[in-house]
Amino acid sequence: MTSTQLRKAFLDFFEEKGHTIVPSSSLMTDDPSVLFTTAGMQQFKPYFLGKKSPYGKRVCSVQKCLRTSDIDEVGDESHLTFFEMLGNFSFDDYFKKEAIEWAIEFLKEKCGLDEGKLWFTYFEEDKESKQILLDLDIPEDKIFSFYKEDNFWGPTGNKGPCGPTVEIHYDLTGKSCSDDCKPNCECGRFVELWNLVFNEFYQDDKGKLSPSKQKGIDTGLGLERLLAVMQKKSSVFETDLFEHLGSSRILADHIKSIVFLATEGIIPEKIGRGYILRRLLRKAIREKGDLIDLAKKVIEMYKNIYPEVKEKEADILTVIQKEKESFGKALEAGKKEYNKIKGAITGASAFELYSTHSIPLEVTIAWAKEDKKEIKNIEEFYELEKKHKEISRAGAEKKFGGLGKEADSAEAIKLHTATHLLHSALRQILGDNVQQMGSDINSERLRFDFSFGRKLTNEEIKKAEDLVNEKIKQDLEITKQEIELKQAVKSGALSFFKEKYPDNVSVYAINDFSKEICAGPHVKRTGELGDFKILKEKSSSAGVRRIKAILK
Ligand SMILES: [Zn+2]
Ligand SMILES: [Zn+2]
Repeated sequence: MTSTQLRKAFLDFFEEKGHTIVPSSSLMTDDPSVLFTTAGMQQFKPYFLGKKSPYGKRVCSVQKCLRTSDIDEVGDESHLTFFEMLGNFSFDDYFKKEAIEWAIEFLKEKCGLDEGKLWFTYFEEDKESKQILLDLDIPEDKIFSFYKEDNFWGPTGNKGPCGPTVEIHYDLTGKSCSDDCKPNCECGRFVELWNLVFNEFYQDDKGKLSPSKQKGIDTGLGLERLLAVMQKKSSVFETDLFEHLGSSRILADHIKSIVFLATEGIIPEKIGRGYILRRLLRKAIREKGDLIDLAKKVIEMYKNIYPEVKEKEADILTVIQKEKESFGKALEAGKKEYNKIKGAITGASAFELYSTHSIPLEVTIAWAKEDKKEIKNIEEFYELEKKHKEISRAGAEKKFGGLGKEADSAEAIKLHTATHLLHSALRQILGDNVQQMGSDINSERLRFDFSFGRKLTNEEIKKAEDLVNEKIKQDLEITKQEIELKQAVKSGALSFFKEKYPDNVSVYAINDFSKEICAGPHVKRTGELGDFKILKEKSSSAGVRRIKAILK
């Protein structure tokens, strides 16, 4: 089956089950908690909350989505910035039984997948879903329960519909890596295909769950992943959605996002959505390939599904051409600066060219080689770049996610203070090379990304958890001090935000255990936090680990 046939098969299948086919919504969502549309349910959010749906109670769609949190991971087997999500939705109509049954039926009957390779996960408290799976003759040893972190969805933002999920995973290799090998294992054996969300709760802005007045189904099935499985390809890049692009993975992925972002009228800029487009464009330009030609191929590939790409063809090509020119000018200006450098090229001078003229390190090195200039202390570049990335990432999260969007939730504030404790605990246990690489907090859990080269041992995780709990038990006061940025940095306060912050900043200290430049807010004393529990420690990207934790 080709991608075109698969989209049609999905929509036909659910149309036969009484669903109205609704076209994809724009990539630019008005949901303030995200920059771009990342899931099919976004355009249907009001209907889950009781607003009458003009399409009836059952709908299905193929939604174009853009996810930028994985931008640095693109190029491996599964990470994409632009992708399409197949989904079926029910607003106060059918519920778990039909959703699960139809999902299995579709994968088996229409996609031709071997039922024996389908594995299932469910939320531990949702015994109903487990029973439904057993009633469908799914063997018990292919059904696994997980906690909230893996099998409970939502809400997006700090309030809204949410509920338990059932996930359908596909067994790619049939080979166990260990006695504990099951869906969600990181060994690469399983790929998550379909997420079925059962919206049966409503969470208010205080984090309180109550049964929702109406129940809803929200599902998401990644088109590219399913296609790779069906076409027996080892990566999405070998499917018909990519093979005609015949370029590097990064370029093949980025050119799609570029085309679809430009279709929306977004232009390259220094901030917000335009910044994402510029970043993708400049990375693509460096990948050596004919961007204009590739963009035309992408437009041809998608014009029958999303006619707007064809309508906007001229605009799209202009955006690409103009950015190529302005990046070309940046290169020219950078070369002039470069020519002024006397003696060896160092990591610091290469970084200066990078930060002021966007000259990538590879380009600077190539220039130096041409000129037979000496290159030394190049590792300094990576240190400076890392620091710079942390600052801009933290800044972006502050603006577009993280605590910024729900600073008024009491739970989120507690989790934010817990994040500071965790950060210091990790540095104390693993060493000062641990640095914050990102953080995302909602009223349910914290997520903390940090630089570290390997998986943490169970003892290390336990130690970190214990140390945070010890500091909570000591009921330490959190103090805030407004000082000059320079002074704050000098005092050893962790300073990921320093470029984004004004000359005077606030420093939050927890006794002498933690000290961070931060906009807050925080609780008054650590005793308010309750029990700290690490749910998960896993890889986030190369050299970066991710911890998810909660307060009980
Ligand atoms: Zn495994
Ligand atoms: Zn903070």
